[in-house]
Amino acid sequence: MTDAPLLQVEDLNLKFHLYEGVSHVLNGVAMHVRGGERVALVGESGCGKSVFVRTVLGLLARRNVEVSGRIRYHGEDLFGLSDGQRRELRGRKITMIFQDPSAALNPVFTIAQQMTEVIRRGNPSCRSAEALDIARQSLLQVAIDEPDRVLKSYPFQLSGGMNQRVVITMALVNRPELVLADEPGTSLDVTVQEQTLQLMTRLTHDAGAAVLLIAHNLGVVREFAERVYVMYAGTVVEEGTVEEVFRDPLHPYTKALFEAVPRLTGGAMPRAIEGMVPDYTRAPEGCRFHPRCPHATERCKVPPPNVTMGPGRRVRCILHEGEAEEAVHG
Ligand code: SF4
Repeated sequence: MTDAPLLQVEDLNLKFHLYEGVSHVLNGVAMHVRGGERVALVGESGCGKSVFVRTVLGLLARRNVEVSGRIRYHGEDLFGLSDGQRRELRGRKITMIFQDPSAALNPVFTIAQQMTEVIRRGNPSCRSAEALDIARQSLLQVAIDEPDRVLKSYPFQLSGGMNQRVVITMALVNRPELVLADEPGTSLDVTVQEQTLQLMTRLTHDAGAAVLLIAHNLGVVREFAERVYVMYAGTVVEEGTVEEVFRDPLHPYTKALFEAVPRLTGGAMPRAIEGMVPDYTRAPEGCRFHPRCPHATERCKVPPPNVTMGPGRRVRCILHEGEAEEAVHG
């Protein structure tokens, strides 16, 4: 792992201009991923995690969308790149693993056609036979015993778990620097999810790739990541190492996420978080969590400070305002 950020996001805002009003989905998001690092972005469904990843990749349609802030990759501003340059970056340096492998694969092409196309996109001088051989070797590396049968198959002829293996292999075959993994395998059964995570951990480690894992499952985050960002309603509310956040969650939303998980509550009954993620066209003023927060006061109706509690450790909540000095210097 290197110290310089590979990906750095600063004050990222995303608004959709809809018939019902302006939907302010991402609200001043700041985060970074260093080379070789495994980082998780966690939060309930509907908290803006997937849309964040699509914004980073430049995959959102431009119509009715307003984006501001900075996304830098190796220090270069991605908003300054042309569509073609961004596409090239996506094919070679940054890849994506989606939730549902069947949606990531094209049903009308064989696995061989799809894999060789990806391989040749990453290396245009590679000939078809050579690309096919690389595809075969890559499948063998992920313990697919009959690579030729898989290569000749269409996605619908393979199981969900097999397709997921193919998708992960394709995402890593060109040795990207950064993999954005959006809850991979959650559309499949629990055993396949577990295998997916193990496979992704092994392959990204072997390739030296950094990973930004999008997850709502805290068990997965603990197993996989080194650092974690907690997102609520398009705002990062807490960040730290996995060890720090799991040992001592600070933000009321992070605590509520932990209390909602049965196996992390030491036998206590899990408690669902009351209320819902807000409608983004009418997001609450100030702390977006205040309608659901048991500690909310009038002061929470203005934006709370992002309090630095230590190196890389921050929490966006008034409850920790006075602790910053002590935490950093004490
Ligand atoms: Fe709760 Fe206020 Fe902290 Fe928001 S800022 S989490 S509403 S106490």
